[in-house]
Amino acid sequence: MNKSERIVILGAGESGVGAAILAQKQGFEVFVSDKGSIKPAYSQQLSAFGIAFESGQHSMDLILNASLVIKSPGLSDATPVMQAVIAKQIPVWSEIEFAARYTNATLIGISGTNGKTTTTLLTYHLLKNAGMKVGLAGNIGKSFARQVAEENFDCYVLELSSFQLDNMYQTRLHIAILTNITPDHLDRYQYQLGNYVAAKMRLLQNQLPSDYFIYCSDDPLTMEALSRLQPTAKLLPFSLNTEVNEGAFRKNDQLIIRFNNSEFTMPLEELPIKGQHNQFNSMASGLSAKIMNIRNEAMRENFKSFENVEHRLEYVASVRGVDYINDSKATNVNSAWYALESATKPVIWIAGGVDKGNDYHILKDLVKEKVKAIICLGTDNRTIHEFFSGEIEVMVNCLSMKEAVEMAYKLSSKGDMVLLSPACASFDLFENYEDRGKQFKKAVKEL
Ligand code: ADP
Repeated sequence: MNKSERIVILGAGESGVGAAILAQKQGFEVFVSDKGSIKPAYSQQLSAFGIAFESGQHSMDLILNASLVIKSPGLSDATPVMQAVIAKQIPVWSEIEFAARYTNATLIGISGTNGKTTTTLLTYHLLKNAGMKVGLAGNIGKSFARQVAEENFDCYVLELSSFQLDNMYQTRLHIAILTNITPDHLDRYQYQLGNYVAAKMRLLQNQLPSDYFIYCSDDPLTMEALSRLQPTAKLLPFSLNTEVNEGAFRKNDQLIIRFNNSEFTMPLEELPIKGQHNQFNSMASGLSAKIMNIRNEAMRENFKSFENVEHRLEYVASVRGVDYINDSKATNVNSAWYALESATKPVIWIAGGVDKGNDYHILKDLVKEKVKAIICLGTDNRTIHEFFSGEIEVMVNCLSMKEAVEMAYKLSSKGDMVLLSPACASFDLFENYEDRGKQFKKAVKEL
């Protein structure tokens, strides 16, 4: 890009502010616009860098003269401002696309419907603790652009949502990991599963034959898409069921990784993160670490020292012999499936919230087998009632976390578990899934 060009950044959160700092450093004219309010820490940073910005409005005359728009992944194309930008045919990039042009670091990009954060953090943990100069970015922590402006890492592990992938065009991922694809966010993809799958498969675009694509060969949607797309990168599958010559798999309760004529094995029981889904995540992370030449000894130690992430099947407490588990991050049906699947005790299930077009069919058998009572925590619980009222005797509606946890306490008996795994987004009653999880933990501690 020509340095005299004007870059307009829509959204002044972590990614927008990071992009602004990098764009300023690269000598562009920069303007940041946010229709909501901007957190004081971010407006102070923008002022400190002398970057022009506005909040509470979008001034079209200051936006539509941009040569490039960088947009926050939270901003939908359906908003009036994006409609105007698209109508004027101004190129729109994600912050990741912009930042990638200013670094020569090795990029590991991780996407998928579920397991992104866990796989990203685990991959980062395996690399960093083996001594690599590695950055963690994408949907997590400090933005990629900010780190490209201020740090000097050899490698980045990037968590990429489909919204970020939507606005990526030339970024080459040396290693791409696709954890899985199941229906989610269909409201942002014209209710077309194919559009959502296509966004995820953008991981592959720009990969060269020397790059790697790591994927779950047990996942039907991934396999179907791969058979159509015929990627150029080297393919490394991981599977719970099928032994592979190169890739990762499970056999005799061992996790086995084969890469470059060498083999890494580890008993599954030594992995601190539990459940089949975390076996998948561990295989994917381990494969990327082997590509990055991490030695087996270091891998083994660092797999063992990885701590589970908050709000993901997080053990909270045991009260009167009942375990309370916080899986607030389970914001879709598939992630709730894995949570229920891993349950080893009768479950009082707290579910519900904003339904993104949920189809609960895949949960029916598990719910019948494991769930004693459902506590619906949402402003509109009709879909959950429709699917489960014939299957489960006890179904209760609650409108606050405190009420839900107290109800769970009443309904449970010694040896049960109370599982918050909502299968829905949280925005009807909570700020976000973190707020939901924190309120759950607080209510449990107050029992
Ligand atoms: P993401 O960042 O993609 O939302 P997380 O790692 O934060 O994924 O996990 C979100 C939820 O999905 C957790 O509640 C967990 O129980 C479930 N989960 C994690 N990994 C997987 C996986 N590989 N397959 C299916 N579900 C998963």
